[in-house]
Amino acid sequence: MLKRYLLAPGPTPVPSEVLLSMAAPIIHHRSPDFLPVLDSAKKGLQWLYQTKNEVLILSSTGTGGMVGSVNNFFNKGDKVLVINGGKFGERWTKICQAYGLAVEEIIVEWGYSVRPEDVEEKLKKDKGIKGVFVQASETSTGVYHDIKNLGSIVKKHGDTLFIVDAISALVAHDLKTDEWGIDIMVGGSQKGVMLPPGIAFVSVSEKAWAKAETSKMPRFYFNFRKERENLAKNQTNFTSPVTLIIGLNESLRMLQAEGLENVFRRHEMLADATRKAVRAIGLELYPKGSPSNSVTAIMTPPGIDGQAVYKNLREKYGITAAGGQDKAKGKIFRIAHLGYSDRFDVIIAIAGIEMVLKGMGYPVKLGTGVAVAQELLMV
Ligand SMILES: *Cc1c(COP(=O)(O)O)cnc(C)c1O
Repeated sequence: MLKRYLLAPGPTPVPSEVLLSMAAPIIHHRSPDFLPVLDSAKKGLQWLYQTKNEVLILSSTGTGGMVGSVNNFFNKGDKVLVINGGKFGERWTKICQAYGLAVEEIIVEWGYSVRPEDVEEKLKKDKGIKGVFVQASETSTGVYHDIKNLGSIVKKHGDTLFIVDAISALVAHDLKTDEWGIDIMVGGSQKGVMLPPGIAFVSVSEKAWAKAETSKMPRFYFNFRKERENLAKNQTNFTSPVTLIIGLNESLRMLQAEGLENVFRRHEMLADATRKAVRAIGLELYPKGSPSNSVTAIMTPPGIDGQAVYKNLREKYGITAAGGQDKAKGKIFRIAHLGYSDRFDVIIAIAGIEMVLKGMGYPVKLGTGVAVAQELLMV
């Protein structure tokens, strides 16, 4: 037997409380059984998002929420700015281009955070930019972009919308949607929210709703104005993912019991212990900018293949982490500390990394990183 440990940046482990809540019989999505369930989920999401605006609930993965954030607010030919510092930044560009937007990119070297002054300069030079797209946590590089600062910059530029993919950052980072001027923020169920894959969340500001009135792009499934009307009646436009929404209420209940500040503090603590422990075994972090609290991207030592580290973790020890994507493939591997994650998940990760690296000939004294993590995680 090989006991399995899921330490990937999505899907992430689901607590048994949430799994059990989802074992309940199916209820009808237009019946009085369901309406209070959706009402509670929508209020819980506003709490999690720190917003007074609606948070739409869509039956799709996070990418569906990203698509809807493009084709509900813009028109063909609109000029938008995408901050592209990894695989998910690239996804914004591809979606915008698929809908015929004129994309300008700020290409950020992988492993770095965007320099807010570069965004400010672009916006000053070009008053025609109608939206700025970014990731909060760029999962492919383990980097956090400074959403607060970017929000204050975009806010100064009239009608320009600020659109944040927070799919992997939600729950792990304090993202003050309203206070920071985030017009549209996308989340996904299988990351910090501790649910199976299948729902996306999208918050929409009043400024963005006003913009939606002028958008004439083709859409049918992700029609945000229709979703808004339905949400007001505690429904969704099409059949609601009733089981996932029941699970969402349980997950939100757990997060509320912990308290938002404590949730962020836990992620910060786990991320910090992971970073310091991997450094103690002589490894370098991939991010040169500000690191994400959701996932740690670790450079493999010279002569060792990152994909082999990831494969050995899984095949020899049952630990599912993540490798590198695209140009980081082979150079890095990634460990998540996201959602249903606590002290001993970090200990498992670090112990596994030490054992795998030693097995591959890397000189590490077993227990070096584990001891560092233990010191930092003691209660
Ligand atoms: C996981 C993830 C996504 C979306 O992935 P889906 O597979 O569509 O859920 C988008 N952006 C980031 C930053 C992510 O981590």
